[in-house]
Amino acid sequence: MAAQIHHLQCTFLPSYSTKKPSLELKPHFRSFKISASKSSTSSIAGRKLRAAVIGGGPAGSSAAEALAAGGIETFLFERNPPSVAKPCGGAIPLCMLEEFNIPLELIDRQVNRVKIFSPSNIAVDFGKTLKSHEFIAMLRREVLDSFLRSRAQSTGANLIAGLVTNLEVPTSPISPYIVHYTAKNNSRRSIAVDVVIGADGANSRVAKSIDAGSYTCAIAFQERIKLPDEKMEYYENLAEMYVGSDVSPDFYAWVFPKCDHVAVGTGTVCLKQDIKLYQRAIRERVKPKISGGKVIKVEAHPIPEHPRPVRVRGRVALVGDAAGYVTKCSGEGIYFAAKSGKMCGNAVVKASEGGMKMIDEGDLRREYLKEWDAKYISTFRFLDLLQRVFYGNNACREALVELCGDEYVQRMSFESYLYKKLADGDRWEDVKMVTNTIGSLMRSKILGKEMERLII
Ligand SMILES: Cc1cc2nc3c(=O)[nH]c(=O)nc-3n(C[C@H](O)[C@H](O)[C@H](O)COP(=O)(O)OP(=O)(O)OC[C@H]3O[C@@H](n4cnc5c(N)ncnc54)[C@H](O)[C@@H]3O)c2cc1C
Repeated sequence: MAAQIHHLQCTFLPSYSTKKPSLELKPHFRSFKISASKSSTSSIAGRKLRAAVIGGGPAGSSAAEALAAGGIETFLFERNPPSVAKPCGGAIPLCMLEEFNIPLELIDRQVNRVKIFSPSNIAVDFGKTLKSHEFIAMLRREVLDSFLRSRAQSTGANLIAGLVTNLEVPTSPISPYIVHYTAKNNSRRSIAVDVVIGADGANSRVAKSIDAGSYTCAIAFQERIKLPDEKMEYYENLAEMYVGSDVSPDFYAWVFPKCDHVAVGTGTVCLKQDIKLYQRAIRERVKPKISGGKVIKVEAHPIPEHPRPVRVRGRVALVGDAAGYVTKCSGEGIYFAAKSGKMCGNAVVKASEGGMKMIDEGDLRREYLKEWDAKYISTFRFLDLLQRVFYGNNACREALVELCGDEYVQRMSFESYLYKKLADGDRWEDVKMVTNTIGSLMRSKILGKEMERLII
């Protein structure tokens, strides 16, 4: 017990400065003003490894749960109260329910019909091959995030309600990192830890603190619209996707059904300043289906377009949006956030032998980054290629929608989305699919450059 109290005294360090905490986070390599006892800086003998997870979204909560379950002393920081939702469509694949033990009662809608609309408004039923038990789960992020956070807490993670304002990076390989934060009661506090997992989203302060470099971002804009009952019925179990230069120069627009309303949104990378024009255009396209609806919320947020140049530095690892794990083409990030958090947490547990020894950058690279890249990098590259080929202009988009009508294409797409593994193909069908792809592109007069890109 005495050892426990001493340990808590070592880790929670009240900050006495009267200056306002700086929100501007430049890489921070200055030496510590806060002294820590020799035992906490030179080794972890007599105590467990301490980890701070910054951000309590799907990435952070999954990381914290894995760390706590594996015997690491874990501190999970979240600035928002449970009622605040991260701007998001809230669509997750079927495999996430089983893999992350997400109860069915958290799901608002089980979407088993998907329609894709071409620039000329040709609609294709994209969900024809879904089996009776298969669906895309639609949920509210405040519900999912609160659930995952509480579960991390009940596994043993200490949940700290507060805004992390600064991360002090040590100069020695065994000295602690100091996390400075503003607690709920506005008091400013600090805590010393051995390992940091940055799960603080697309505007990650942790990434800035370790000079992880930046990434290109899309901006996504979304309106939550409450529809009259008879209009909502149409979207009961249906999601819609729209492509065309009117709704986005390089992405798709969507109508996703939520608990008692629909989310109508769009995104773009290259013409962010025009995002409101594109939003107006998607509202125009769906006008008859949403007329009489009332906008109840407007939200916008960046979406990373590719992994950061640096995802591990020292004993700090980035996961989820902070690392840049959102797929192109589909804009999917929730599953990859939770998965990367879990993999990173497990990597720390493994390398530290259940929290018994200090870890280093090499451990994080080997046990987390290498494993992640081996599993997912080709998926990310493939979807990047698809986005470049098919979202480039309206002719390409017409070809994309035509292809989406093909049942084999649908089966392969849903198998890989819902189960996050490459579906077993059929050679003959694969040959037909390539022929159909070329046929669609040729009919859409996409020759030359676009074909070269497809082959590359
Ligand atoms: C409009 C829109 C629609 C989307 N739709 C979908 C979709 O339908 N399906 C899908 O799979 N993906 C979707 N995405 C992407 C998805 O939202 C993200 O990929 C996912 O949320 C990433 O999870 P994360 O845990 O890494 O980060 P986040 O969910 O961003 O969580 C980060 C957490 O860190 C906290 N935090 C940040 N800074 C601090 C700090 N300094 N101190 C303390 N706490 C902090 C935040 O409050 C937040 O809770 C969408 C994104 C947008 C913008």
